[in-house]
Amino acid sequence: MLSMGADVRISGLVKRYGSAVTAVDNVSFDVAQGEFLSVLGPSGSGKTSVLMCLAGFEVPSAGRLAIGGRDVTDLPPNRREIGVIFQRYALFPHMSVRENVRFPLKMRGMPRAESDRIIDGTLATVRLAALAERMPAQLSGGQQQRVALARAIAFRPPLLLMDEPFSALDKKLRDEMQVEVKELQRKLGLTIIFVTHDQEEALTMSDRIAVMNHGRLEQIGTPDRVYGDPATRFVAGFVGEAHALPGVVRAVEGRRITLALDDGGQAAAVAPEGSTLAAGARAEIVLRPEHIALNPAVGEGEGLAARLIAKSFAGATVGLTFETRRGARVFTRRPVQESAALPIGGEVALGVQPGQARCFPLAGGVA
Ligand code: ADP
Ligand code: MG
Repeated sequence: MLSMGADVRISGLVKRYGSAVTAVDNVSFDVAQGEFLSVLGPSGSGKTSVLMCLAGFEVPSAGRLAIGGRDVTDLPPNRREIGVIFQRYALFPHMSVRENVRFPLKMRGMPRAESDRIIDGTLATVRLAALAERMPAQLSGGQQQRVALARAIAFRPPLLLMDEPFSALDKKLRDEMQVEVKELQRKLGLTIIFVTHDQEEALTMSDRIAVMNHGRLEQIGTPDRVYGDPATRFVAGFVGEAHALPGVVRAVEGRRITLALDDGGQAAAVAPEGSTLAAGARAEIVLRPEHIALNPAVGEGEGLAARLIAKSFAGATVGLTFETRRGARVFTRRPVQESAALPIGGEVALGVQPGQARCFPLAGGVA
């Protein structure tokens, strides 16, 4: 059995539960062959519903789904050739590791000798060869998830759907599993759609990220793009660390915006593509830690006056939380050495790295 990734096309997908809940609201996107795509969003944003529709466990209210160029919208789950790892579908507790992995092969009518060969190979791939005869209860959480992974890929599906598969694991194990899944994907050429609410997980693992909110697709793009050029205020806040400062638009030049900050001083920022921000509008600048220049030597009247209110040690760097005179918070990170010279309660002048921070309209309209 040869595993070649399948491409996926989701067109106008709508999923309603009853008349009150629209869990997925007209979502369309494509996933390329062999791509690792994360669906990222807060709890309740519709991620699982998208996956359940793709897997065939839920019937879409509208829209079409195609896998490998074949429309699967009306096919039952077992005819879609998809490997699935859902957090809530645990292993069969009364079956050994080997028999758990055998299950999908048996369902496909594979003879025992052939399935044994595939099981051995698959268990070796997920580094569980030595544990084949154990029962699930005799395995750690990470080992159990590797069995679930082996069971999902045993029949070499071209598409693997994973719904928050590592959320129950501790951080170290989660990091290990992330590396393993990426390696596995590279080896097998699988297409993977990976659901997570963890932006860090999505940023590290994905070729592209589809960001969902309230059942809608807010943006789809490379991690770099989604982080560096968020399409909406929601994406800017949900992906990566962000703090916002309000102000009034003073000048607009294409996507480049100059803002007069409520806290005093000016900042240059970039509006999202298609922005209609005009001079005089209320807006906010969204700052990542790396957008902030820290220059205690700057004289009065320049930069943004802020007081250091907290330091959090994080190995090579120290997290610094500042409060402006109007009470807004700004966060940045600095090397241990540099931050040692900054006392809690001390006032500094903060600058904004020109052209990097993003700017979004603020409710309230024209100032
Ligand atoms: P996520 O996986 O992003 O947390 P879900 O797809 O599970 O989101 O849920 C999206 C919305 O649909 C939520 O408001 C949730 O309460 C609702 N929902 C999900 N499944 C059902 C269901 N079987 N019946 C009714 N409402 C549901
Ligand atoms: Mg979910």
